[in-house]
Amino acid sequence: MRAKTIVVLGGGVGGMVAANELSRLAPGNRVVLVERNEQHAFAPSFLWIMTGDRRPAQIQRPLRSLVRPSVDIVHAEVTGVDLDARHVTTDAEALTYDYLVVALGAELATDAIPGLDEGAHTFYSLDGAVALRDALANFDGRSVAVVVAGLPYKCPGAPLEGAMLIRDILGRRRSRENIDIGLYTPEPAPMALAGVELSDMVVSMLAQRDISYHPGCHLTAVDPDARELQFDGKPSAQYDLLVTIPPHRPPGLLRDSGLAGDSGWAPVDRETLETDHENVYALGDAAAVAIPGRWNPEVGLSLPKAGVFAHGQAEVIARRIAADIAGARPTATYGGVGYCMLEAGGGVAGFAHGDFYAEPSPDVRLRPMGRHWHLGKELFERWWLTPFGIRKSLLGLAMRAGARTLGVPDLL
Ligand SMILES: Cc1cc2nc3c(=O)[nH]c(=O)nc-3n(C[C@H](O)[C@H](O)[C@H](O)COP(=O)(O)OP(=O)(O)OC[C@H]3O[C@@H](n4cnc5c(N)ncnc54)[C@H](O)[C@@H]3O)c2cc1C
Repeated sequence: MRAKTIVVLGGGVGGMVAANELSRLAPGNRVVLVERNEQHAFAPSFLWIMTGDRRPAQIQRPLRSLVRPSVDIVHAEVTGVDLDARHVTTDAEALTYDYLVVALGAELATDAIPGLDEGAHTFYSLDGAVALRDALANFDGRSVAVVVAGLPYKCPGAPLEGAMLIRDILGRRRSRENIDIGLYTPEPAPMALAGVELSDMVVSMLAQRDISYHPGCHLTAVDPDARELQFDGKPSAQYDLLVTIPPHRPPGLLRDSGLAGDSGWAPVDRETLETDHENVYALGDAAAVAIPGRWNPEVGLSLPKAGVFAHGQAEVIARRIAADIAGARPTATYGGVGYCMLEAGGGVAGFAHGDFYAEPSPDVRLRPMGRHWHLGKELFERWWLTPFGIRKSLLGLAMRAGARTLGVPDLL
């Protein structure tokens, strides 16, 4: 049997897991991972860069060290995909594939809102988190606005964590009464897909920290000189320091290759992650995954964009492709279970987990705050950034045992 070539586009969370699993499950075949960056940065730790608890070198590793030696890495920009010819072009070399996994993530579109580029900080990129850390260290103003500038965005918990951690670090230097923190978002409620009960719990978590929550705020423009936020149909708001979750846009390659649906993201079958094109899969932030529930135009009905989903989807795709290559019927399916640790400052975190494919709507719970969830997040960070070998396996065993003790889903 001829060895197959599997090309994975994008070596972030999902692409890296897919490539590693494919090389493990389909030995003897060629797995090629195409990624523009030589360094992999662990995005959940951008928040700890902002707080000064991590330095950039501590949360980055060469991609090569995190990927099995049998995976060929091509460090290049993907420039085109021809689905009929099964051909990928990059600015380094061209590749022909038997199977294609599209894991290109989402792009940050700071240019989509007038004034955002000049006026705003963000912890959604590594450089942004470093600059924000310095701005917070020198901040002597009063009001901080944390603004979700568009939907969808990755990691529904991150803006909440950002606001709570900013409260925590500024609170180490200044009394609470001297600082106003407001969280503005177009959503009707925090983590609205997860239901009213969970949203109410999160609103009270924010209220306990004197963070005002402003739902239904669609940002239309920022005036950096007047330090003013303009919203569609709502009064404008002033700020001294602006922190945004920039609008996200789908990679243009999805549209150019014919993989994009109406939303611009790549629609996939939610269980198999297959696109409409034979042997072509998409996952993670780049994919549009429809989930059950009551349609809400403010929230949509798509699986949130988060690393935990990209990770699980990548494992399923690898198992399906490996089965297909072996001549067996692929049976692995993705079940939509996800979780997230919500960092609240002071070394404690909450833990939200649940089934996003549950009928008639997602079934997601929030566990009470605790130090153990924060430690779990630290352990996960360490595991993620550890190269393959005995140490990684031991850390994995410890995490599985911890998850069993706490009665939560397997975190790996
Ligand atoms: C501050 C922050 C906190 C977060 N916290 C959490 C959390 O606690 N839990 C959680 O589950 N998720 C979290 N996330 C979200 C998580 O990081 C993303 O959802 C996840 O990385 C998505 O994985 P992906 O593989 O789809 O995309 P990515 O990991 O973004 O990977 C896409 C890759 O494709 C590459 N690429 C794109 N276009 C090209 C091209 N043309 N040529 C070559 N390479 C290309 C990019 O360089 C990138 O490496 C957080 C995100 C942020 C920003």
